Amino acid sequence: MAAKNLKCKECEAEYELGAHFFCAQCFGPLEVRYDFSGMDPEGAKRRIQTGSNGIWRYSDFLPFEGKASDPLEPGMTPLIKADRLAERLGTEAEIWIKNDAANPTHSFKDRVVAVAIAKAKELGFETVACASTGNLANAVAAHASAAGLDSYVFVPADLEEQKLIATDIYGTNLVGVNGNYDDVNRLCTQLADEKPWAFVNVNLRPYYAEGSKTLAYETVEQLGWKLPDRVVSPIASGSLFTKIHRGFQEWLDIGLVKGEMPIFNGSQAEGCSPVATAFAEGSTICRPQKPNTIAKSLAIGDPADGPYAVEQARQTGGAVDSVSDDEIKAGIRMLAETTGVFTETAGGVTVGVLAKLAARGELRAGEKVVVYITGEGLKTLDANRDSFAFTTIEPDPASFESHFGQEVAV
Ligand SMILES: *Cc1c(COP(=O)(O)O)cnc(C)c1O
Ligand SMILES: [Zn+2]
Repeated sequence: MAAKNLKCKECEAEYELGAHFFCAQCFGPLEVRYDFSGMDPEGAKRRIQTGSNGIWRYSDFLPFEGKASDPLEPGMTPLIKADRLAERLGTEAEIWIKNDAANPTHSFKDRVVAVAIAKAKELGFETVACASTGNLANAVAAHASAAGLDSYVFVPADLEEQKLIATDIYGTNLVGVNGNYDDVNRLCTQLADEKPWAFVNVNLRPYYAEGSKTLAYETVEQLGWKLPDRVVSPIASGSLFTKIHRGFQEWLDIGLVKGEMPIFNGSQAEGCSPVATAFAEGSTICRPQKPNTIAKSLAIGDPADGPYAVEQARQTGGAVDSVSDDEIKAGIRMLAETTGVFTETAGGVTVGVLAKLAARGELRAGEKVVVYITGEGLKTLDANRDSFAFTTIEPDPASFESHFGQEVAV
């Protein structure tokens, strides 16, 4: 196993690989540290290519002692070249859509949850839990039931009904909290102190976060062992955004891929944009906001990894932008109309920011842009209800002609 220990991101204090998430010395966040120094890149590549058709093919880069198992293995989602979207945006860049809605519970959260739950089992936990803006709830409930663990899922009580139903169905203990995500998260941090439970995004957060690296690895493999030139990714807590970077960095470091670190463009909704605001102000301090946006899966007002996300965008020559609710809705529709991929509001945020970059002329001709679509449109149907229209006719050809005749006759 290459994973060595947990290390504080601020003061570098070291901890054993247990259920710890903050530094006892400075309260900084902990993350998993690896030693890849002895790794032969050809051997690693062979193990990947002969591995399972999902995230466990990357086990060399994940924090397990033994073999990670998961009856609901996520990963190997499609990477689609989106020429019609590029044309619609009027850009000569090569646009690629990484459709991570094609996971077992239809969002990228299956990746982080699979890793966290496999680690929870390895550490001997019998109950898992989480604080969720929706997609995490679906994933924790599903993976816990598949793994035979008990689960408690805490969500803001005003969550989209689709996401509540798609969580309860797995037989979890679904708890609606009167408050926003930040309230739910605070409650779970308090409960994590008292209960012998693995909160996947609280006390197991260092392991959970590792799951997002698999999105970077897959992207490299699917581009023929090459890096993209630019990535556009949503930001909620900033974990996904920073771990995609980490995944690329690890493979550059050990020589599994050659080239330059891609430019990172982060995407937020205007109604919850602490990271985009800090970026615009030239600061790394993400002042907490009260979320008010249709992009509920990204509505984290006090993002744990916000400062690191701002730094990374700046360092790679990218940016963090935000888009309005109307731009989110337009982004969802544009992606569906040009690629056949129906995404949830988070994907609308990402496509909305891609459209902004294209409009500002920031996408260079021929550059490879990978756009991370992280969730499924059927989970946020309300977002597009107001632009939804269809024609009703009587069951006879004359009625059809009277509505569509002119168009058909051309
Ligand atoms: C959770 C989530 C994200 C990103 O979350 P981070 O906290 O930034 O890792 C992005 N898209 C969707 C759909 C999500 O559910
Ligand atoms: Zn510390």
